[in-house]
Amino acid sequence: MAKIIDGKAISAQVRAELAEETKLFEKENGFLPGLAVVIVGDDPASHVYVRNKGRACDEVGFYSETHKLPKETTQEELEALVDRLNADEKIHGILVQLPLPKHLDEEKILLKISPDKDVDAFHPYNVGKIMIGNYSFLPCTPAGIMVLLERSGIEITGKKCVVVGRSNIVGKPMAMLLLHANGTVTVCHSRTKDLAAVCREADILVAAIGKAEFFGADMVKEGAVVIDVGMNRNAEGKLVGDVDFAAVEPKASYITPVPGGVGPMTITMLMKNTLTAAKQAVKRG
Ligand code: NDP
Repeated sequence: MAKIIDGKAISAQVRAELAEETKLFEKENGFLPGLAVVIVGDDPASHVYVRNKGRACDEVGFYSETHKLPKETTQEELEALVDRLNADEKIHGILVQLPLPKHLDEEKILLKISPDKDVDAFHPYNVGKIMIGNYSFLPCTPAGIMVLLERSGIEITGKKCVVVGRSNIVGKPMAMLLLHANGTVTVCHSRTKDLAAVCREADILVAAIGKAEFFGADMVKEGAVVIDVGMNRNAEGKLVGDVDFAAVEPKASYITPVPGGVGPMTITMLMKNTLTAAKQAVKRG
């Protein structure tokens, strides 16, 4: 029987700590950390994420503003807004909710965000800093996973870590963080040969491919730590991870459930990055 890593509880703990730190920050500096969230268009899932981000800001006591733009917004209009937010002293973190409507150049917009306010850590400057292990912001999902591992007392040094998925927002930075924590890291993807055999070697397995319940018991070593990043709908419309929880849980030593595992940590780490950005703004003067 695996121990369930309770992402909701750990996330609540971290948010409570951030709320305390925010009070102290305000007392010392006379202003609040501020996050601006920009959403273009009317994708319902994106609107839910944006609402949750606003609520999280309220919970930890930040100043926040949401910019809801119509789907016809032009590249120039969106870039002008990012420029204004870059220059706005109340705002320490800027998040442009992805995906953007197809006519907008996502990469160009993300490059426009000042690296000092890039709380998603998507700007190449911040990506480069992660590579060399000297970072201010970490991408929220991998950073949240590191906190889950740490607070569950899971040792990484010397462990065989297998990350399945190589996206820029999850797989690659995840691999880098595990490497910085002295794991021996293998990264797998859709072209990996005999994926099951590679996964069975893992002391820590991170599943981040976006395929419902893909990882079965045959892909997991007895006693492995299993981190499920996936968020998928199964045939019944239920939210499930990339891991077949019922099959894998008896074999694992620790496992994250879906929902209630990795998911709750992601927004919490966004709050942490925003507070870090505000502290750095104070340092820069
Ligand atoms: P992407 O689609 O960007 O990347 C998926 C990766 O998985 C690719 O590298 C792809 O390989 C690999 N892959 C796909 N199929 C297979 C396969 N059959 N075998 C091995 N590798 C495979 O996804 P993301 O990284 O953005 O997201 C992954 C999952 O995590 C999704 O379910 C997403 O919803 C979820 N997610 C959850 C978050 C949370 O907060 N909990 C946050 C972000 C994402 P290749 O490169 O070769 O194509």
